[in-house]
Amino acid sequence: MFDLRYEYSIRQMEYLMEIARAITSRLDLGSVLKLILKSAVEMVRGEVGIVVLYGQRGPEVRAAYGIPRELLPLLEPVVSAEPVRIPGSGWAISGLEERLAEVSRLGLPFEQIVSLPLVFEEEILGVIYVLKGGSTTFTEADRRILAGFADQAAIAVRNAQLVTQLRREKALLEAVVENNPGGIVILDSKGVVQTVNKAFADFLGISPREAIGKRCEEVVRLEQVKGVDVCSCARAGSVRGSIYSEGVLKRPGRKDKILGVTCTPIYDDGGRVINIILTAQDITRFREAEEMEATFISIISHELKTPVAVIKGYAGTLRREDANWDRKTIEAGLAVIEEESDRLAELIDNLLEVSKIQAGALKIRPEPVDLKPLIDEVIERFSVQTLRHTFVKDLPEELPLAYADPKRVRQILDNLVSNAIKYSPDGGIVRIGAWSNGRALTVYVADQGVGIPPEEQGKLFKRFYRIDSSERRTTKGTGLGLYLVKSLVEAQGGRVWVHSEPGKGSTFFFTLPIYHG
Ligand code: ADP
Repeated sequence: MFDLRYEYSIRQMEYLMEIARAITSRLDLGSVLKLILKSAVEMVRGEVGIVVLYGQRGPEVRAAYGIPRELLPLLEPVVSAEPVRIPGSGWAISGLEERLAEVSRLGLPFEQIVSLPLVFEEEILGVIYVLKGGSTTFTEADRRILAGFADQAAIAVRNAQLVTQLRREKALLEAVVENNPGGIVILDSKGVVQTVNKAFADFLGISPREAIGKRCEEVVRLEQVKGVDVCSCARAGSVRGSIYSEGVLKRPGRKDKILGVTCTPIYDDGGRVINIILTAQDITRFREAEEMEATFISIISHELKTPVAVIKGYAGTLRREDANWDRKTIEAGLAVIEEESDRLAELIDNLLEVSKIQAGALKIRPEPVDLKPLIDEVIERFSVQTLRHTFVKDLPEELPLAYADPKRVRQILDNLVSNAIKYSPDGGIVRIGAWSNGRALTVYVADQGVGIPPEEQGKLFKRFYRIDSSERRTTKGTGLGLYLVKSLVEAQGGRVWVHSEPGKGSTFFFTLPIYHG
């Protein structure tokens, strides 16, 4: 005789196996939950099903079957049920009947409910609930079948959760790598570029895509390396952890950059290298600053020592007891001592000013200033220092008053005029003038000296910058004058620039605000 019940359970077993295969081959949590729920509801001939998962935010309905979303809040009494662990016999949800009665009172016509706790390694991940009306009841066989399905379902949920978590962590790591202000390059075990972040691509001036798949040496082209070769750092002996190196990054068609690169090999459990991570910082500025400081110290010590040596030499000579110097010699000697002392005092003043600027303590006390007498005074002062230069004043009849700090304007002019003399060794005309365009005053100092090559003109105003050429190297200086000029002009709301032609001369311009009464 044909046994109906037997045939039904066979069909259920086949169903179960098919479902198990399907759910374990899916990794997307949403579709895994949907499939599990649909199978559970169909297997026990329920009407509606929900999957509740326990996350950081408490119990949450993560999939529903046979019920519109907007009715889900009515199932809240069931959703909020808390499974408790019964030692030796798994998880139980007490009071489910009462909770179902409450759902019915809220308006959903369900009288039957079965629950299926999803448990993985003793941790409860969630519960599947299947509900139906009152026509047929859930049998003991239904409960058994669901229970047999529970382990597979829990594994599938756990897998999918882990994959979701991995994807999230991967996205997080990718964002950290991509947006890191330092350059990051990830190599595979053979030294082929797998990932290049935006900062590193910017160092090279290429897009990350252009670098991927290339050999490390083609992308990270470092020269004058101090430390190990970063592309093969994993082979650099038996050192574990990170290795730091520095080198000059060659960039086709662009200025080199100095990089500090930390190389970190990543090993598998067997000790084989699987990846190499290179993190790079642009230390060009830092190195330049270091070089600048070194230049500064050598310039300053030289500039300080020379006048002191000259002063000492002359003073010693003049006071020799066995010599009987005539008046002229004594005067000449004293004049040199005076000149060198002035130079020392000027250098010390400039140094103090620069340190004030750097400390942000530069004080400007603006007042209405008439530039005419100020320029006269500067010309008078410098005329006695040189016979080879002629000073020309170029001012309109009417020049509005400037709103500036007279002491600072004098300092600016002193520096510009002293440069004009210094850098026109054959003499010539030094012209000092000013005009107004109604909005601001422009002041200029022009010479007929050696001039400045165009490529140097943008750099002159940097601290300690001196043009490096043999003829200029013999000219004394610290590279502070124009930096001071720029700082002082800008602190008074003006700007400074230069026009120059090598061999013909230079004109330095600066602006000052007009006094409006
Ligand atoms: P210093 O004169 O002490 O070297 P500055 O900051 O005043 O420093 O000037 C920086 C550099 O700019 C100088 O070393 C010089 O090469 C150049 N320079 C400045 N003024 C002139 C000028 N009038 N003509 C030609 N070169 C100049």
